[in-house]
Amino acid sequence: MNLTKQTIETLKEQYLSDTRPWVVTYSGGKDSTAVLHLVITMLQELHNEGKDNKYCYVVSSDTTVEMPIIEKYTKTKLDEIDKFAKNSDLKLSCHTLEPKIEDSFFTLMLGLGYPAPTSTFRWCTERLKINPATVFLQGLVNKHQSILMLLGVRTDESMARATSIESRVLNHRGLSVHDSIPNAYVLSPIKYWTTEDVWTYLGKNPFPWGDHSYMMSLYDKGSSEGDCNIALNPDSPSCGKTRFGCWVCTVVEKDRSMEGMLQNGEEWMQPLWEYREKIYNYRNDTTKRYTRRRNGASGAGAFLMEVRRELLEALLEAEKQVNINYHKMKKNDSDYNKNEKIKIIRDEEIELIQIKWNGDGDISNHAYQIAQKFDRLLDKLISTELRAELESFDEDDFNIDLFERIYELESYRKNISNRYGVINDIEKRVVDFYKGEFREIN
Ligand code: SF4
Repeated sequence: MNLTKQTIETLKEQYLSDTRPWVVTYSGGKDSTAVLHLVITMLQELHNEGKDNKYCYVVSSDTTVEMPIIEKYTKTKLDEIDKFAKNSDLKLSCHTLEPKIEDSFFTLMLGLGYPAPTSTFRWCTERLKINPATVFLQGLVNKHQSILMLLGVRTDESMARATSIESRVLNHRGLSVHDSIPNAYVLSPIKYWTTEDVWTYLGKNPFPWGDHSYMMSLYDKGSSEGDCNIALNPDSPSCGKTRFGCWVCTVVEKDRSMEGMLQNGEEWMQPLWEYREKIYNYRNDTTKRYTRRRNGASGAGAFLMEVRRELLEALLEAEKQVNINYHKMKKNDSDYNKNEKIKIIRDEEIELIQIKWNGDGDISNHAYQIAQKFDRLLDKLISTELRAELESFDEDDFNIDLFERIYELESYRKNISNRYGVINDIEKRVVDFYKGEFREIN
């Protein structure tokens, strides 16, 4: 029996052994695509025999800061798979797991001023990947008592991966227990496949739901290590060192995947590369950050308000440039759609950023002012009630902008009971403001 047939037979045995629903993790990469392809082939066979008696969930993580080219590819594939499953009457559906809007990368970095992540302050992984996956998987476990997750991990990817896979304790059916989700079991059906086996299988077995040649071209263009799934895949490489990680990732010094894409015909994404470099450099520049943390502890704190404004404007400018570049470069492609709009930051995120800024003393709705320069959120008021009221006083001696600067300073420190240094900071702020050298402090 050849490897493919043997793997499908093993899958069938596992499928028919219990009532646990299956969860296939899908990243769009070759390994998870191979597993999904095998599972769908098996489901088709069992369906024809009237034996497909339980459900299969295909889940994919979308951090909402995926490289636009990857995001589009994954979304297109999931739509195709969903449609195919429906038309073929298979018990299978696709689910994209996204972080809550209040946990999104831009809400936290631009709204609250979280410095772009480092390996020691990696605030993003849990919020963008682990939590959405945990909520979904836990929900399935609660509903069905137990689940079986199918992963596309292989021992020949690297020594570290082989050690991690081999160290798992397996039960008599070859299943291991998931690290963090109780009652979730894990099966790695292509564990001992070689890279060549995977490519041969994908090359010889056209997908019933669509073409995968584009995936191969993405693999050629990107570089770095394997797929990243974290909670979805406990054996995935450490977050930030993955083949196609978040395009904003500053945990790595250089984004090699993006670099590979830019050098291989996807130069339209260059503004995103530049933006990542900017936040990487700003994170390491203490003049861009408060000198205290929000809890009052000394040490580099959040990004300053003026820096957050600059970064929001730079992001919207990058989004604009990416769209211009994309349409210029792709207009002769066969699948070109002139109405396609690449969104780098969503309106809901800008609205939440504005709410966070209001909490940090912004009385002029600066996020909306910036958005409106780019024809976004045009219906939003560019002043708060407080600012409008202050303007109505019509006092020549009262400088609202200076008031706002002091108000921002007080707002940043509102949870700090220790008032040490506040008067000095306010005095400095007033003097700098009138000297025209305004720079935010503390
Ligand atoms: S890839 Fe980078 S930015 Fe994305 S979650 Fe992982 S560490 Fe954070």
